Order: sequence, then C-alpha cells, then structure tokens
Amino acid sequence: MIKVKKMKKGIIYLVGAGPGDPELITVKAFNIIKKAEVIVYDSLIPFQLLKNAPVNAELIPAGKRAGNHILVQEKINSILLNKAKSGKIVVRLKGGDPFVFGRGGEEASFLIANGVEVRVVPGVSSSMAVALAAGIPLTQRNLATSIAIISGSDSVGEAPKNIPRADTVVFLMPKRNLRKIVDNLLEQGFKSDIDCALVENGTKPNQRVVRKKLGEFIDFADVGKIAGPAIFIVGETVALADTLSQIYQQYTENIEYNYARKKI
Ligand code: SAH
Repeated sequence: MIKVKKMKKGIIYLVGAGPGDPELITVKAFNIIKKAEVIVYDSLIPFQLLKNAPVNAELIPAGKRAGNHILVQEKINSILLNKAKSGKIVVRLKGGDPFVFGRGGEEASFLIANGVEVRVVPGVSSSMAVALAAGIPLTQRNLATSIAIISGSDSVGEAPKNIPRADTVVFLMPKRNLRKIVDNLLEQGFKSDIDCALVENGTKPNQRVVRKKLGEFIDFADVGKIAGPAIFIVGETVALADTLSQIYQQYTENIEYNYARKKI
C-alpha cells in the first residue's frame, strides 16, 4: 500500500480521478485522497470523491473549462507551489489520466523545477473509458488495429490540421471545432460514410451518445446544446455499438452537484 508521507519541502500527489464514474478511480488514488490535507481539484472530477478526504482537508476548486476559466494556469501553479511549500500533503486531482491533455506534465515539471517533490498516479482516461461505456471497442481484430487520440483544439484553439491515419480516431475537446474537424477529416480522405459517435458525459448516469456517419456531422446543429464534456470517435468499430451499447453499468447516484467546502 502507498505510504503517503509529509516532506519538509513539500510534496504534491498529481492524481488521476478517472472519467466521471466515481468507482473508476484507482485504489492508489483513493488511498491518497484519504490522507490529503489540501486537494486542488479540476471541474471534470467526480465531485463525491471529495467526501473521502479528511473532514478538515482544504478543498480548492481549480477547474478550467473552455471560455470559463475559474483559475488561470499560473494561478493554479502558484497555489500548488505555496501549499506544497507549507509542508502539507497536497493532492492535485485531475479528470481522467493526469498526463492525457490535462497539463499534468507541465504542472509536474514546474513543481519539480521549484524544488517540490512530485508523485504521479495514473487514472482511467476518458479517451478509453468513454468509448467503452458507449459500447465502442477502440480496436477489434480485422477492423481496427491502431488508435489515435487527438486534441480537438490546439494551443491557440484551432482544429487539428494533420490528423494521423489511425483506424480509430478519438478527439478530446471536440465540441467547439466539430464542424472544422469533420471538414479536415473529409479533406484528408476519411470517407464520408464512416461511422462516428459523439459521446457526452461518458460513464455518468446522464451519458448521451449521438451516432451518425462522418458526412452527417457536418450539419450537426445540436452540438451547441451539448453542455457536458464529450469525445468524438471516428472509425468502423463505432458500428459495433449496435450490439454493445448497453454493456456499461453506470453509477446511479446523481453526481452533478458542486461539492466545495471552501472556495478561494
Ligand atoms: N485528462 C483527461 C482529459 C482532459 S481534457 C482524461 O484523461 O480523460 C478534457 C476532455 O476530456 C473533455 O473536453 C472531453 O473531451 C474529455 N472528457 C473528460 N471526461 C469525459 C466524460 N465523462 N465524457 C466525455 N468526455 C470526457
């Protein structure tokens, strides 16, 4: 079992919280949360995980959703640094896996450069688990033997231009640029009748799946109405959801509440 320890110069546990279903956290991550003195958490974590922190732990929301920045990255970095330097056990809790589009690598490098000990715990990434929860295998013998996971929004917010040719292509953060992503895929030779799925709130009770052919997503006007996080999956295995769409058993308790004992 992990020995959660205090360090004089501070220690930060950079921890993946999984994709949304609170039961998809690792045992290692769970044990660290139980020992935390400070938790700095993102907006996509399953909030009820925070109930497992000690009652006097300080809980700091640091979510950054597109266009709705609660805390900018520099501020998050300086909070992490100050809290760690105070000698407390600090947990930085991030959605999915901390090193998949979560700026986990950047935060870890910054903290190490500033003399803080960092330990990282992987998490179940939405790029894998959300597809599964929609009944979509990312690989399947004779159908798909490669996967690409791509950010739908680059560092300046644009759609990716050179999309790798994998059998299954998964876009995270696809909503804002969906039309452009579809245009770029078609331009690069992806067939317009290939199956695609947009999966919102994957693994949660309010999971929603929209399945269409790639060409049909050009005129998908309802994308603006999708409020929750979503991934966009392109590839032949999407059609397997015809028979597999009910295979995931969602956690039933409502998790759409904001759980913050202390705000800053
Ligand atoms: N580190 C995270 C990803 C962070 S980027 C991970 O490994 O999962 C945030 C993006 O993740 C969202 O824009 C969305 O594309 C995806 N995402 C996270 N949780 C999701 C969920 N429950 N359902 C669908 N997409 C999700």
